[in-house]
Amino acid sequence: MNGHNDAVEIISPNNVLANAMLRSVDMVRPRLQATSVDRVAFCVGTQINGAPHMGTSLVQTAAFLLAKATKRTFNVDAVVRFGALDNAPYDIRLDPETHHAYQQTYFHALCSEAIDDLIGKYYRGTFDSLADATGVDYEIETYSAQQADPAFRHEFLATLGRLDQVRWPLAPSHGQVHLRLPCPQCGWAEKRAERTRLLRTGSGGADFSAVCTDHGDYEIAVSTDTGTYLDLATLYRNLIKERLAARDHVTLSVMVKGGDWAYGCQLVDEAFAQLPGPPPPPRIFTPMVLTDTGAKLSKSLIRDGKVPPPPGTHPWMLDVTEWPGDTDSYVDALVWLVGKMLADPKHFYRSYTAQELDRIMTARPGPVTGVRAREMNLYRRYFDLVATGRKTIEVRVQYPNLRTLKAGDHIRFVCGRDEALTRVMRVARYPSFEEMLDAEGPARVNPDSPREQQLANIRRIYGPEKEALGVLAIEIKLLDSIT
Ligand SMILES: [Zn+2]
Repeated sequence: MNGHNDAVEIISPNNVLANAMLRSVDMVRPRLQATSVDRVAFCVGTQINGAPHMGTSLVQTAAFLLAKATKRTFNVDAVVRFGALDNAPYDIRLDPETHHAYQQTYFHALCSEAIDDLIGKYYRGTFDSLADATGVDYEIETYSAQQADPAFRHEFLATLGRLDQVRWPLAPSHGQVHLRLPCPQCGWAEKRAERTRLLRTGSGGADFSAVCTDHGDYEIAVSTDTGTYLDLATLYRNLIKERLAARDHVTLSVMVKGGDWAYGCQLVDEAFAQLPGPPPPPRIFTPMVLTDTGAKLSKSLIRDGKVPPPPGTHPWMLDVTEWPGDTDSYVDALVWLVGKMLADPKHFYRSYTAQELDRIMTARPGPVTGVRAREMNLYRRYFDLVATGRKTIEVRVQYPNLRTLKAGDHIRFVCGRDEALTRVMRVARYPSFEEMLDAEGPARVNPDSPREQQLANIRRIYGPEKEALGVLAIEIKLLDSIT
């Protein structure tokens, strides 16, 4: 179906990694072979301070497309997990005496509704659109929710017994890890934790002392279930997040990160080596967007007038809200671009200048049809019923990205390389599968299977917690099938 893409040529030299594999998604295969997980989660983390730039969209789009390729290639379930870093600094000020920087996070400065609005404004629309375009579901979790999780806090506390070993990889120049424990009275914390001390640590938790500009010395206890906020700087946070992920035997976490992280992860690996337990989870580094000098394209350097915008830079590359079109058209363009990169490991495991991206995007063919279809995966036995027009009701639970589904939309059902394009005639919502089958009639859901059998099959796919989201009956009309 992507034959028209071939008009635009990308030329990439070979490299060590690309030379070792046939498909970009083969990065996931070694760990899948070594474990028996049911599901793969592609994890992306993004600071929520301000509008995303193109590099952020590249990472996110790659995560969705890798999840889609994982489902098809390895026949396991795959989702995208989005970590919204609401511990990004909202405000910074200097202590008048020591000149140490103090910072307040977005979480401490804003109410949870305002954080949710920020995520909604910059990301939820894009993620809904990516989910539709790829047939991959996603989950969003804030850093603040993550650090409150007892398992995350336990993983952190477990590193304190070896703090003397891990503090050097986490802060190789001075050994002072940026472990921020905000003042309980005002929520501000010393940015580089110069005066934060570990007083004692044991099986139940740890006690620290720190200094607030306004409120003086304070002591703070961290345990698995206290509410004290644990603001870990980037490397430490990634160490804890990855160690927690590596212990999950049901879901394989794959970290998807911008290419500049390849350098930073060397230190995370060094910290892993100092601790007992599992090795780091697999990581996939996505192409960096570079200027003509070979430096990473930086919105802030250009905004502050320190460097001119490099050749080929469009405003939307620095701030994706400048894209001249709606969210779906932006996502379609990104899916096309990243799809081209992923098509060959040589094109994916490399970086691109803004100028080269401009060239590729300018040569991009327009949409083949005027139809933008959501993609949904189906098991073979159901796909064949749809592709022959015998199944006219598709059943789903109400995932967030399906809340806007309506009559007139198009759905492309996919099974392996086979596709069936359908039009949505009607969407009905029910509190349970039983009520749905009673109202719609089991024969329209599956003409070959009795009601009780269908109910059992559906419940094997969707557990009670998924059914509780609400049940959708989607009436479809077959337009075209390619098998
Ligand atoms: Zn204070």
